Amino acid sequence: LAHLRKHDPDVAAALDQELTRQRGTIELIASENFTSPAVMEATGSVLTNKYAEGYPGRRYYGGCEKVDIVEDLARKRACELFGCAFANVQPHCGANANLAAYAALIKPGDTVLGMSLDQGGHLTHGSPVNFSGKLYRFIPYGLDLETETIDYNELERLAQKERPALIVGGASAYPRVIDFERMASIAHAVGARFMVDMAHIAGLVATGAHPSPMPHADVVTSTSHKTLRGPRGGFILSNDEEIAHAIDKAVFPGTQGGPLMHVIAGKAVAFGEALRPEFAEYIENVVENAAALGEGIAEGGLRLVSGGTDNHLCLVDLTESGVTGKDAERILEDAGITVNKNAIPGDPRSPFVTSGIRVGSAAGTARGFTAEEFREVGSLIARAVFQAGDEAAQVEIAARVRELLAGHPLYPEF
Ligand code: PLP
Repeated sequence: LAHLRKHDPDVAAALDQELTRQRGTIELIASENFTSPAVMEATGSVLTNKYAEGYPGRRYYGGCEKVDIVEDLARKRACELFGCAFANVQPHCGANANLAAYAALIKPGDTVLGMSLDQGGHLTHGSPVNFSGKLYRFIPYGLDLETETIDYNELERLAQKERPALIVGGASAYPRVIDFERMASIAHAVGARFMVDMAHIAGLVATGAHPSPMPHADVVTSTSHKTLRGPRGGFILSNDEEIAHAIDKAVFPGTQGGPLMHVIAGKAVAFGEALRPEFAEYIENVVENAAALGEGIAEGGLRLVSGGTDNHLCLVDLTESGVTGKDAERILEDAGITVNKNAIPGDPRSPFVTSGIRVGSAAGTARGFTAEEFREVGSLIARAVFQAGDEAAQVEIAARVRELLAGHPLYPEF
């Protein structure tokens, strides 16, 4: 940050503080990760200077030959990584990818089935406070409260009753494998299109650690910054030329202006990294570590929603401890562990309080934490919430967190 420190010490100081914060906490927010320095270099590059409305080879501005190389690399690598024919890498974020996908597939007022926010879905899957819930007639589907897994029979019943134009699969807080094949057959049986938002599990899909939605979905949207370990952004995949053309039009000029070419460069680098064998090993560790984290939490006396995890995250029911999600978030932050409060299925508390937390292994695994250490972090989490009022215990837990962190320095090159 040599230039920034001289030029704008206030912003530089805040960035320094954020690096210190990231180094000084065990990051368990399931949607976050640490990109490689190479991804950050590309994202902080001269490409931020360039306007490139349009697509490679057909831009509305001159001087786009070099950024065309970058966008073509990103598109080609995305297609290779996910085994598809078409990729649009321009969405600024996951919400924008979903906005454009809806714009390409359906009309305002159309009926859509999406996973309910309070049972694991995302805001853009039909929440009334989001554009999706305002523009389209979303009907929520959710979990079987007994098994706490997606109730596919109820989804089928809803699809037959409502005859939606689109069914949206994918989630923000769901620890189990999603049966995309079954969802596609439910959608296609009623003449609906099937879209999958794989934002959370994109890294797992890339390496085969979660079954791919690609053979079943008409459109797949994603973010690039969660398990995929890329820069903050979105992208959209498909195999049908007509749909791909509609998506390109829906992204630009439909819902966005100039693409963020510096972020697209970061996506190209991240897709390239994800194609390497080391990434498959990383994701294998992410999955193993999430299971170990969950086991540590359960051994400490807290219940895991659905009884465990198949992917990179666990949902933890705090009821047994009497501590709310909101309080647990703060208690753990004081101990140096970052998590987010999260509703559990059928949660009696408001979304601002909740009875649960969501924890994930993607960032900690990128930092090098082992399964054994994740299991210990799980037990520290349980101890911290059960001994919420015990100051000596909290000091001890925070000290152990610092020791664990010291074993895995973050960004030592900076
Ligand atoms: N879709 C899902 C399933 C998500 O979990 C998220 C983010 O948490 C998004 C979309 C939105 O991504 P962004 O925050 O980049 O808009």
